[in-house]
Amino acid sequence: MKTQIKIPLFDLNYDEEEENEILSTIRSKWISIGPQNEKFENLFSEMIGVKYAIAVSSCTGALHMAMRSLNIKEGDEVICPSLTFVATTNAIKFVNAQPVFCDIESLEHPTIDPNHIRSLITEKTKAILVMHYAGFPCNMDEIVQICNEYNLKLIEDACHAPLSKYKGKTIGGQSDIACYSFFSNKNISTGEGGMLVTNNHIYKNKAKLLRSHGMTSLSYERSKIYSNGYDVIELGYNYRMDDMRAALGIAQLHKLKNDISKRIEHRKKYIELLSELDEIIIPFKDHIEYCSNYIFPIVLKDSNYIERGGVRYQLSKNGIQTSIHYPAIHLFGIYNHNGVYLPKTEYFSSTEITLPLYAKLSEDDLKYVSDNLKNAIVKVRKGHRIYNSERK
Ligand SMILES: *Cc1c(COP(=O)(O)O)cnc(C)c1O
Repeated sequence: MKTQIKIPLFDLNYDEEEENEILSTIRSKWISIGPQNEKFENLFSEMIGVKYAIAVSSCTGALHMAMRSLNIKEGDEVICPSLTFVATTNAIKFVNAQPVFCDIESLEHPTIDPNHIRSLITEKTKAILVMHYAGFPCNMDEIVQICNEYNLKLIEDACHAPLSKYKGKTIGGQSDIACYSFFSNKNISTGEGGMLVTNNHIYKNKAKLLRSHGMTSLSYERSKIYSNGYDVIELGYNYRMDDMRAALGIAQLHKLKNDISKRIEHRKKYIELLSELDEIIIPFKDHIEYCSNYIFPIVLKDSNYIERGGVRYQLSKNGIQTSIHYPAIHLFGIYNHNGVYLPKTEYFSSTEITLPLYAKLSEDDLKYVSDNLKNAIVKVRKGHRIYNSERK
């Protein structure tokens, strides 16, 4: 039996504004990288408060370009979380460097643990790559301090964290390079897309070259004036964003603050509704600083992936879509051969459930999800365990 989705995990915040942006871009007859890209990049760098923003076709591309721009290569080690999307650490492998997996601080603060980072540093360590889980910042003071002490580069996977603040400053400017994603279900949606930001003009120039085949000029620039041709001075890629997506990005940036305000309200309501549920941990529960609230994760206490499967199955039977952020990367087939053991990451990734979070949720929706979560936990703990959802 196929159940109807009543409350999806995410709902796209699109309306006439996106339609109009797309239409005017199509009518302009310039649809590849061009004026909309420039406008989107300028808006983005201003919003984050960094010198340079480079729009790209995905965050995966941005992360790859970050590795290349920082000259990370074979023989280098990069310390990174395992509790993130696999693209974060794949980027390290793209340049034949070695990801060195680091545990999270705790179930309440599932971001990379600075103390564990210190214990993983070797002569080969070249960089630290962090990810701000759900938009909540890593312990950046400690991490920046470690980078200064050991002369390491710092890269932020800021996919979850557009506009999130850390001690009063917008996330993204404290590292060498920060990367964002505009995949459909992110805070800013363009279908596919991403952004690389930096304050360093050398990294900016290198990333711009890598984005477009290592060529010294773009066809958009050449179309403006008489062109003397171009040289190719790096082994580059095609990681360009087209102007239709950049136009969608512009419309999305206009909406971002409102969208985040709604998410902040919804998170507060969820926390209120779930406050008496002793069986769960709400990560970052007491966090008060401005946060993008990309997702709303909860963790089951004293539990395991089988019980988690049962709870998710009960929720799905009532039309509530949930997700898992994330399966631990160090246990994936292509990564799982060094016997790495990360107890907190492994517990978190076996018992975390991501509940629906998006601007258009109503109070009734939030209550429906919360009530169903409570009932599901009771039902599963009573022994009505249903494993089918995990069995596939
Ligand atoms: C979405 C996401 C990515 C990948 O972004 P793409 O734009 O799809 O390449 C990488 N890291 C994190 C943490 C993400 O959430």
